[in-house]
Amino acid sequence: MDLIRARAAVAPLRREFDTATALPSVDALVAVTRPEEPMHCLRPATIAAAASAFVQGFPGETLYAVKCNPEPAVLRALWEGGVRHFDCASAAEVALVRTMFPEAGIHFMHPVKARSAIREAWQRHGVQDFVLDTAEELAKILAETGAGADQGLGLFVRLALPKGVARYDLSGKFGAEAEEAAALLRAARPHAARLGLHFHVGSQCLDPLAWRRAMELAGSVIRAAGVPVEVVDVGGGFPVAYPDVTPPPLGAFFAEIEAAFEALDLPGAMLWAEPGRALVAGGGSVVVQVQQRRGSDLYVNDGVYGALSDAGAPGFQFPCRLVRPEGEVSGTLQGFALYGPTCDSADRMAGPFWLPEDVREGDWIEIGQLGAYGACLRTAFNGFDRARLVEVRDGPMLGEEAGEVPERMAGETLRPAA
Ligand SMILES: *Cc1c(COP(=O)(O)O)cnc(C)c1O
Repeated sequence: MDLIRARAAVAPLRREFDTATALPSVDALVAVTRPEEPMHCLRPATIAAAASAFVQGFPGETLYAVKCNPEPAVLRALWEGGVRHFDCASAAEVALVRTMFPEAGIHFMHPVKARSAIREAWQRHGVQDFVLDTAEELAKILAETGAGADQGLGLFVRLALPKGVARYDLSGKFGAEAEEAAALLRAARPHAARLGLHFHVGSQCLDPLAWRRAMELAGSVIRAAGVPVEVVDVGGGFPVAYPDVTPPPLGAFFAEIEAAFEALDLPGAMLWAEPGRALVAGGGSVVVQVQQRRGSDLYVNDGVYGALSDAGAPGFQFPCRLVRPEGEVSGTLQGFALYGPTCDSADRMAGPFWLPEDVREGDWIEIGQLGAYGACLRTAFNGFDRARLVEVRDGPMLGEEAGEVPERMAGETLRPAA
């Protein structure tokens, strides 16, 4: 039956300028192409540098959470930065990573999987690690892989955490309560070549102590289970800078995690992390065009149904700057709200976006820190799903290296992965 066809609702980002040599700057691209559709700007060197810093700083294995930005150019930059393991949540993510990197370690970290996705991951893509938070999911994984400890099966129990302080709470949906998690560790142990306990403190979590508290809970679960584990997976949630937030340096999080892990005294166990946002946020921006100005409201060509959903109801603030290739620009800044192109009045981004007071129709605005949970959340609502993708040499718009052209662009090679 061919009546139902798979169809992507969202137009793929159109790649432009396959630049084998030096990448252009955002300003140069705007001046030359004068884009009337949102232009997504990827900074591969920024992503590679963030990945390299995380991989070398984290006291364990780094898995990239693919959902955060699955763009192939992003995955390539992460690989170049030394990332060799990927946290996937769907059959499509698994297939994408395997196609791009035959050698990659792929870990299926969604606690509720389609049976076909488990089979496909295990049989076709060599995925060995699966997460679970119920006895039903354990039975499903064992049935669909037909595997056990002697075939290298890895089983990870997702532990529920109390509601935390993260900007995006992730405690409501997945995870077994402590007692149940201990029972699941015991039940999984005989089938697992690699047994792990896994948690996620929530996304954009600014408090290193959140990991310490989670680690202490993990320790009590492991002791209650009374079986050895090989991995404690501390998940993602590592924060990045936004205009209203300057997080502690990543090293503070790593130090807290390492100290809490050592206090658990688990011989033979190692740490894993699954960062998403922290590796890619600074590596992406979107250039929008002003289509109309009404006082301090700007109507632009991308919005909450496009790459800017976090600027809508979640109220994230993003760095921004005016791009006007010709003419003077006022030196006085003013706070603006943005409206996206769809007819929904929820398509509003309160900001404030600080821009020159004379911003006007036809100007472009670059909005930064959008490499994480930006382009991948686009929809086709109202027909506004067209956008282009370019790779640029600019540095991130916020953070320690903001504005700098990353070193690699000066002709140096990246340090090889540890
Ligand atoms: C989303 C997610 C991540 C990544 O979270 P960030 O906040 O982007 O670091 C990691 N692990 C799991 C299981 C997730 O669902």
